[in-house]
Amino acid sequence: MRLIKGFRNVISFHTDFTCPRCRGYTEFFEDRERVWLGCERCRKWVYMEKQEAWNVFEEDGWRGLMDELTKAFSKYVTRG
Ligand SMILES: [Zn+2]
Repeated sequence: MRLIKGFRNVISFHTDFTCPRCRGYTEFFEDRERVWLGCERCRKWVYMEKQEAWNVFEEDGWRGLMDELTKAFSKYVTRG
């Protein structure tokens, strides 16, 4: 585990989802209000408010939450 530049005291880890733009592994982390998924190399991130993330998690579990975030991220980075 390592901290991402500019964000302190957050949990972060690499996911098994690769960035559609650079093929690097994406990174997941959370801060006080949000959960984030993105690519440090491309400097692109998407986030979800924690309340929303929690709702998805309760409904569909961890995999469901990751699906939502990775889909949003894919859309974001491939939009050009
Ligand atoms: Zn990337």
